[in-house]
Amino acid sequence: RAKEKGRNRYQFYSSTITSKAFLLIKLENWLHQAIKKNEFTLHYQPQVNILTGEITGVEALLRWYHSEMGQVPPTQLITLAEQTDLIIPVSQWVLRTACLQHVAWLKAGLKDFPITVNLSPRQFQQPNLVSMIKKTLEETGLDPHYLEIEITETSIIHDEKFAAQAFHELRSLGVSISLDDFGTGYSSLSYLQKFPFHTLKIDQTFVQALQNLPQDTAILSAMIMLGRSFNLRVVAEGVETLQQLEILEKLNCKEVQGFLFSRPLKTEDATQLLLQHCIRRETTNIASELTY
Ligand code: C2E
Ligand code: MG
Ligand code: MG
Ligand code: MG
Repeated sequence: RAKEKGRNRYQFYSSTITSKAFLLIKLENWLHQAIKKNEFTLHYQPQVNILTGEITGVEALLRWYHSEMGQVPPTQLITLAEQTDLIIPVSQWVLRTACLQHVAWLKAGLKDFPITVNLSPRQFQQPNLVSMIKKTLEETGLDPHYLEIEITETSIIHDEKFAAQAFHELRSLGVSISLDDFGTGYSSLSYLQKFPFHTLKIDQTFVQALQNLPQDTAILSAMIMLGRSFNLRVVAEGVETLQQLEILEKLNCKEVQGFLFSRPLKTEDATQLLLQHCIRRETTNIASELTY
């Protein structure tokens, strides 16, 4: 009996592993197909200057619609791609598509602003990262000054020496580096001093906490001042309400990204928005525009 029990348990355990492995293989297969069948798209979300209403940048965000699974959240998609080796072709597709789109926008006469592309830790740690980016810029014809790479601390923690070297080479190419989800990690403060960031993105949890906890203004204010004292472009993420916008403006934050101004948009909609906004105009205040 004991033997039988043990055997059953073994079978149960083994079948769990099998089904997990099976699921992973199935997902990996779907992801392979997605790359081949061109099932990915990029959505674009603008970053906006609070005072002038000008668009100051656009972030490319990956979308995957699968016939059986529906819309797959990008964080899950990236985690899956990182577990398999598919992160390499996925990231190449994202970078290439974003660069091509930006070249098209610039050709159409839109005003100068950078395009931001997210890199996952494994993407960032590829030994050929810089040469891959350089090659993509050359092939797509995008001037490196228009490209901003967005990473999180996790990409750096793993190997600070590698990160420092990669940053140095990227900066020499003319590519900017943005530190995302600022305030959620462990080492952000020393990283500001050590690495040549161009942009600091304040994590949306700090912005969204504003509604409930007034003391969060203190943290937010400190982070904004810190970024500004390092001469960084400071962008507050996840701005959803006018109230949040007004507080950020008072705290001297110059740029925001969030649903209040625009959700991430599919290419055609993004193009239309950019065409409407990226023309020279008198200084206006978006806070007042949005109240109409
Ligand atoms: P992230 O880089 O922090 O991107 C910002 C996320 O916040 C996006 O989620 C965006 O849709 C969302 N967001 C923007 N404004 C608001 C707002 O006002 N309210 C709320 N609640 N959310 C807002 P998304 O597109 O689901 O992407 C999630 C994460 O997946 C990204 O976080 C990024 O880490 C990753 N990701 C997305 N696209 C890519 C990609 O092409 N490559 C890599 N490596 N990662 C990507
Ligand atoms: Mg982002
Ligand atoms: Mg990011
Ligand atoms: Mg973020």
